[in-house]
Amino acid sequence: MSALSESTASSAKASLDTFLVPRFHRQGYEPEALVARREWLEKQTGSTLSHIGKHSIAGELMRGNIENPVGTVQVPLGIAGPLLIHGMHAQGIFYVPLATTEGALVRSYERGMVALTRSGGVTARIFRDENRTCPVFLFSDVGAAYDFAVQLEELFPGLKEQAESTTRHGKLLGVDAQAVGKEVIVNFRYFTGDAHGMNMIVKATERACQWLLRHTQALTYYLFSGLESEKHASGALLPGGKGKKVVAGAVLSAALLKNYLHVTPADLVDLWHHTVLGHMQAGALGYNGHFANGLAALFIACGQDVANIVNSAIGITNFELIDEEKIYVSVTLPSLVVATVGGGTGLGTGRECLEIMGVSGKDGAPKLAEIAAAALLAGEISIAAAMASGEFVNAHDRYGRNRPLP
Ligand code: NAP
Repeated sequence: MSALSESTASSAKASLDTFLVPRFHRQGYEPEALVARREWLEKQTGSTLSHIGKHSIAGELMRGNIENPVGTVQVPLGIAGPLLIHGMHAQGIFYVPLATTEGALVRSYERGMVALTRSGGVTARIFRDENRTCPVFLFSDVGAAYDFAVQLEELFPGLKEQAESTTRHGKLLGVDAQAVGKEVIVNFRYFTGDAHGMNMIVKATERACQWLLRHTQALTYYLFSGLESEKHASGALLPGGKGKKVVAGAVLSAALLKNYLHVTPADLVDLWHHTVLGHMQAGALGYNGHFANGLAALFIACGQDVANIVNSAIGITNFELIDEEKIYVSVTLPSLVVATVGGGTGLGTGRECLEIMGVSGKDGAPKLAEIAAAALLAGEISIAAAMASGEFVNAHDRYGRNRPLP
């Protein structure tokens, strides 16, 4: 590099450095640091950050959840219920906090919940409770990959000891090998207690992978292969294994459907049948009306990792005619990732929303999963009824339009 281009490069770097977000103060989380960073940002961008600057969560409490903090965002919070649940963990009447800017959403979930509650409530069960991470191991040839896959079973006790040495709550349930060419993807399946668990199990798996490198012919590994489907939509989610597999169902009578949702059992089943075909045509993963809507609102309210909606919202809604007078409605969420410990669950409004449902902290996660499934069932029958009765557009016009002022 010539002397001229060297000096041009260094002055370009110097001027770009002036655009870097300043840390301010020693750690960057002190109240003064947040104010200074906000003022710097206002100056840089010509914006006014008066709402962002009004927050009750101290900067220090944000450490571990955010970097370069400048404040918080606010999302309107509504409450939907009553929702009567007969779960193994959630039992009784619940009110569900939903944070959204989509008008009509809370009202829609609410009417579904009232209908389910009046019909006797929702039965909810968790069929599987685990989270996974799936590193990929590389080998010199297919033979070495095969030997590794076979060896895994006998190595399991050692693997379990290594993995569990990094966590008090995480338990390694099993490992499954999936060979692809001369690679082997290993599905590490963990019980993660009330935590979301990805930080927990990735740390545990890293320890186990390093141990495997010392005890097998593996040349090296990458910690994520993609098979885990963390925050990715994939067909690997439908059988479960990423989060909780939870199912919720209820019987609705024709009289109740008529009074509260303005449809008959046959209307709902007909709509289900014809929209299943559309989902097939689209190559959809599973079938549901709008799991993502209720989940996003619940996740934002309750300090969940919102990106996990991508995997959590994959599932199946089913409407089945029992007879002319009754219908069985159910939702199956095979890969629901919810937590009541760790992540953002202890922060301000998130914690308060969990407390509304009595699920904050230890032993709360299975209860939250059952509530989430029951709430989504309410959303499914409500949207289906709105579509089947032709009320969908009217409802959105009534509740869901916030026309900007001219
Ligand atoms: P975390 O906040 O990092 O850790 C939570 C910790 O709480 C657990 O590790 C556990 O400690 C402890 N704990 C206390 N009581 C517990 C209980 N009753 N049940 C379970 N654990 C309990 O949270 P995390 O759940 O492991 O990770 C969640 C975050 O990871 C998400 O919010 C997301 O932002 C992030 N994430 C990370 C990755 C990654 O690759 N690292 C990927 C996706 C998302 P012990 O382990 O000592 O038992």
